[in-house]
Amino acid sequence: MISRLDSETIAKIAAGEVVTRPASVVTELIENSLDAGATRIDVTVDGNGTERIRVADDGEGMSEDDAALAVDRHTTSKLDGPDGVDAVDTLGFRGEALPSMASVATLDVTTNDGGPRGTRVRVENGQKRVDPAGRAVGTTVEVRDLFHNRPARRKSLAATRTEFGRISDVVTRYALANPHTRFSLTHDGRETFKTTGTGYTDAVLGAYGRDVAGQSTEFDHRTTVEFDEREHALEIEGLLVYPSITRAQHTHVHTAVNGRALRDEVIRKATVRGYGNLLSNNRFPIAVVAVSLSPALVDANVHPAKARVTFRTESAVADAVETAVNDALTTADLRRSAAVAM
Ligand code: ADP
Ligand code: MG
Repeated sequence: MISRLDSETIAKIAAGEVVTRPASVVTELIENSLDAGATRIDVTVDGNGTERIRVADDGEGMSEDDAALAVDRHTTSKLDGPDGVDAVDTLGFRGEALPSMASVATLDVTTNDGGPRGTRVRVENGQKRVDPAGRAVGTTVEVRDLFHNRPARRKSLAATRTEFGRISDVVTRYALANPHTRFSLTHDGRETFKTTGTGYTDAVLGAYGRDVAGQSTEFDHRTTVEFDEREHALEIEGLLVYPSITRAQHTHVHTAVNGRALRDEVIRKATVRGYGNLLSNNRFPIAVVAVSLSPALVDANVHPAKARVTFRTESAVADAVETAVNDALTTADLRRSAAVAM
């Protein structure tokens, strides 16, 4: 027998897609903070993340009305009608993250958009309440008791070490992709990671330490690609660690598209090709390669968790990345040998 799902069941299924584990909560909250223009994002985690995850930012904040709406399903300030879907330039747009969290956790959103006072919206067991609250401009979202009503999901999570490791990985990847935003991560009261928001070298310093950051070069390459009989601007920037330091896994090639930290194979492979024969067999570089291009050239909608994009001009993007990386390494090498010769 076929029956129509009720809206609560639909909400639960959707929540399962967006919020699969503590690290996905952190991803969604960081993306919201970045969309709000934050220059500073502080992430606090207790235990494996199911106890408490808190993300505080200094972004634009929300009015009382918006804050109350934000936790409802399919409410977003980022999309205006079906035509907008192809041109989103924000990280979020589905309006599903906060309501999904609210359906599997206790959610507190404390925010201020510059008014005389702030607002706190709490959703607990499906009940929403809105109160005034003190807060400087920005937003703090706190998620407690994650999956309290989903025992199977809770059980399926790994040990604290692993779940926190995933969270740490997310924060690191976003910090590397957004080097002008200050990030910090605190676990059980101890700060485990931070960046100062002063660029790629500093972000790599936070993630890999002084030895690696000291053996690297920043780069910024602007070009254009043709698509649909028009020229579109393409910017490729980031940091390349010199091939004297390599890794056995390709996961240290960090890629980002339009500010979204994601593992993109096209960019990663092109980056490795850009290093060319500077790498020995089965060795991979440490690099951050961020590609910015018109939203019209990417389809971010292909993956429900937005972890992947497809380029509408894949080979042009790949060629541009390979050239950018190769040029940057060649220039750095010339500069270094010139410095040695002096
Ligand atoms: P989406 O990001 O897809 O729009 P979310 O459920 O993640 O959906 O957020 C809903 C809305 O709440 C956003 O569109 C935005 O207007 C607002 N919002 C969420 N987080 C923040 C934040 N940190 N700062 C400002 N506004 C926020
Ligand atoms: Mg969002």
